[in-house]
Amino acid sequence: MPSNAIIDLITALWLGFIGACIGSFLNVVAYRMPLGMSVIWKPSHCPKCNHAIRPYDNVPIFGWLWLKGKCRDCGEPISPRYAIVEFVMGLAFFVLAYAELFSGGANLPGGPITEFTGAVNNFLVPNWPLIGVYAYHCTLLCLLMIIVLVDIDGYRVPLKIVFFGVLLAVICSSNWSYLYPHRDRAAKFGIALSDSHADALLGILASLPGLLVYAFMLISRKKQPFSHVPLNYGVALGLTGIMLGHWAGWLTFLFGGSATAIIVRLNKHRNESSVLRMVSSVWLGTFGIILFWRPIVGLFP
Ligand SMILES: [Zn+2]
Repeated sequence: MPSNAIIDLITALWLGFIGACIGSFLNVVAYRMPLGMSVIWKPSHCPKCNHAIRPYDNVPIFGWLWLKGKCRDCGEPISPRYAIVEFVMGLAFFVLAYAELFSGGANLPGGPITEFTGAVNNFLVPNWPLIGVYAYHCTLLCLLMIIVLVDIDGYRVPLKIVFFGVLLAVICSSNWSYLYPHRDRAAKFGIALSDSHADALLGILASLPGLLVYAFMLISRKKQPFSHVPLNYGVALGLTGIMLGHWAGWLTFLFGGSATAIIVRLNKHRNESSVLRMVSSVWLGTFGIILFWRPIVGLFP
C-alpha cells in the first residue's frame, strides 16, 4: 500500500499531464480562432508543410523535445512557445492540486472548506465543492492563457472566449455559491455579500480601471496605430473579476497592474515585449492570488 504522499504525487502528476494536454489544445485554439478556423474539426498539422502531426509526436512537452523543435516531415523549426505553454499549464494544474485540492482549500480566503487533506480524501473520494473550486480556477487560467497567446500574436480577444467566460460565471454563480469563497469572508466585515451574483458583478467593476485604460487608448487613437492590447487587458481583468469575485478582481488589477507599470517604466521604449507583458501580468497575478488568496486577504485588517 503506497503512502499518502506518493498517491498525492501521482495524482498531482496526472492532473499536471491533463493540464499540459489542455495547454496543447489552448495553443490550437489561440492559433486558429483569430483566423476563423475550426478549432475541433481539423486535426493538428504542421503550419509550414501541412502534414498531419503523428499522434506519438503530439504528446505535450515531450513531443517537442524529442523532435528537437523541428517538424518530422519538412524539418522547419517549431516554435518553443507550444512546449512552453504546455509546461506552464501543466505546472499550474500540478501546483494548484497541492495548494488548493489536497490542502482542503487552505488557500481560500475563508480558510479550508473541509478538514480532510490529501488526494485520497478530496479527489479519489470526490469532494465535489473542492473539485469544483479547483476546476473553476483551472478554467479561468486556461481562458486567460488563450487571451495571452492571442494578444502576443497581435489579435483582439475572440468574442467567443468572452461569451464563454461570462456565461460560465453566470451559470456557476447561480448554482454553486461555494465557487465564490470570498462572500463568507465579506460577511464578517458586515458587507452584505451573501449572494455570489453580487460578488461576480462587483468583480466586473474591478476591471473598470483596465477598461478606462482602453478608453484612453481609443481617444488617443488618431495619433498612434490602434492596438488591441488595452482591450485584451481589460477583458482579461474582467474575466478574473467575474470568475473570482470582487476582491480578487481588485487585487489582480493592483498587483498585475503595478507590475506592468513598473516594467513599462523600466523599459523606456514601449516596445512590443513590454506591452506584451501587460496581459501576461494578469495571468501571473491571477495565479498568484489564487495560490496565496488567504495570506493576502489576511494582510488587510
Ligand atoms: Zn512540416
